[in-house]
Amino acid sequence: MNPFRGIFERFKAMWQPIPPGFDSFEHGEPFRLCSVCSCDLNDSRWGYLIQKSYIADRLIFECAICTSCCKAFGKEMSRPSKKAVRKFVRKNRQVKGVLDQCHFCLLPVRELTEYSQIIDCMDGEMLVWQHPLVFCGDCETDLYNCLSKSTRDDHDRWMDENFGLPPGVEIDLPDGTKAPRKPMLI
Ligand SMILES: [Zn+2]
Ligand SMILES: [Zn+2]
Repeated sequence: MNPFRGIFERFKAMWQPIPPGFDSFEHGEPFRLCSVCSCDLNDSRWGYLIQKSYIADRLIFECAICTSCCKAFGKEMSRPSKKAVRKFVRKNRQVKGVLDQCHFCLLPVRELTEYSQIIDCMDGEMLVWQHPLVFCGDCETDLYNCLSKSTRDDHDRWMDENFGLPPGVEIDLPDGTKAPRKPMLI
């Protein structure tokens, strides 16, 4: 059992079963290992994150990431970019705790062709707190565009190095150019 579980234990409403659809598609069972460092997710200090991204009902990306790898990823982002992401979420998020609509534009997931869902887990259960987080493709692009160019490059390189993702969907960048966007990790 996670030694830090006690901190959250008393908040009963925060704990929910991991919803269907968040098992590893690749392995056909719940995620057990970190997708980046292969550590046992149950040993991850502050739990772990699961992200799934879909385009046209097709899973294009999935991962489970331990606390240390989340932290390492956080170091790839510049301070202004981190601040911009926090500000974007704080200012634009309209709803919390649900998985069936974009948290920013409120469009229902069933009407979206592109979306990402991110949940926090610990000991095989979902923790409802800052996550879950749901983005439609357009809102994810808006968030991506809040990042500085260097952070965007760092983000994409980190995703490439750790997941070897195929080129993402082409999006319009603020400077008028187009670039493939990787699924955002936040
Ligand atoms: Zn890891
Ligand atoms: Zn949206």
